[in-house]
Amino acid sequence: MDNIKNYTLAELEAWMAREGEKPFRARQIFQWLYQRRVRHFDEMTTISKPMRAWLAERFTLGEFERVRALKSADGSTKYAFRLADGKEIETVLMPGESHTTLCVSTQVGCAMGCDFCMTARMGLLRNLEVGEIVQQVVEASRDLPEGAFIRNIVFMGMGEPLHNYENLVRAVASLSEDFGFGFSSRHLTVSTAGLVPAIRRFIREGVRANLAVSLNAVTDEVRSRLMPVNRRWNIAALLDACREFPKDSRARITFEYVLIDGVNDSLADARQLVRLLHGVKAKVNLIPYNAPPGLPYQRPDMARVREFQEALLSRGLLATVRVSRGQDVQGACGQLIAEGITPGGRFAPERAENTALAVAGSA
Ligand code: SAH
Repeated sequence: MDNIKNYTLAELEAWMAREGEKPFRARQIFQWLYQRRVRHFDEMTTISKPMRAWLAERFTLGEFERVRALKSADGSTKYAFRLADGKEIETVLMPGESHTTLCVSTQVGCAMGCDFCMTARMGLLRNLEVGEIVQQVVEASRDLPEGAFIRNIVFMGMGEPLHNYENLVRAVASLSEDFGFGFSSRHLTVSTAGLVPAIRRFIREGVRANLAVSLNAVTDEVRSRLMPVNRRWNIAALLDACREFPKDSRARITFEYVLIDGVNDSLADARQLVRLLHGVKAKVNLIPYNAPPGLPYQRPDMARVREFQEALLSRGLLATVRVSRGQDVQGACGQLIAEGITPGGRFAPERAENTALAVAGSA
């Protein structure tokens, strides 16, 4: 059976029309799915009983099995969900003083093979369907206290969103729908390791979401070592694509920069970063590295992080520092990995590299 959450509103309306039904039925269904977040078609009380039965014969509601919900001391929660085929994904809910952010996954595992990231250790198992992307938002929303809501969605969980382009874009459309969650483009952020053709397409098609690019180094030598995708599209190619970002829009591209001790955190690196981003509508988000056990990288001390930030700010480059949430529950950036896969266990650097290059070649 088909998961009804795999469909955008336009697709459901078209489907209703083909079945001889009124399109407004699709809008009602959307409200039940995403505003009321029902678990059974029978709860859709504005829809006739025969129609509810008819829907239930054709569709599932794409519910997950909740495997874990680990609460961090800082108030964030890391969820593990089991999908219909038994695979697991993780989602992180981060309530804040002024607003709540949800970090969602777009793939089971990841093919990018970044050397410093735990999810890369899994390799890519498969893409998530549209319904599996939006269900993470449904599940997390159910846990919020009455009146609270998720304001920001960041596509920064497991996986490379632009490697699952079609489903990502349809999930963005679904989440933006007024009859559903109604997220505005300002509150949706897609983060990419740097799949250049997909970035160009994202910009060209005007996908209604912010773009974040994981830059993480200022020389091709270092970036290729950290991120195999750079061997296919180097820094110059990446920034060329980013320069196509519309100059007239108020939005900027966020460049994520994971600060790793002694690897990419020198003040010379900071100055080079300013030069590289000259002429790009950019802001920088510095992420002090979350060092997982077993990897050869360390986080610089906070003084170095501040110095690096200051070196950008003093040269007129907007730069913030991301405080990683949920570190005590392995919910922070780069720590998402399905249980049962031993860090390092299944990983062969050559293999990860090949995967990333193969992917890069086909994108
Ligand atoms: N594939 C996408 C989105 C997932 S990663 C991308 O690469 O952008 C989200 C962010 O976490 C990326 O900027 C990545 O560079 C960063 N990251 C990965 N591992 C990390 C770690 N151990 N500590 C801090 N940030 C990390």
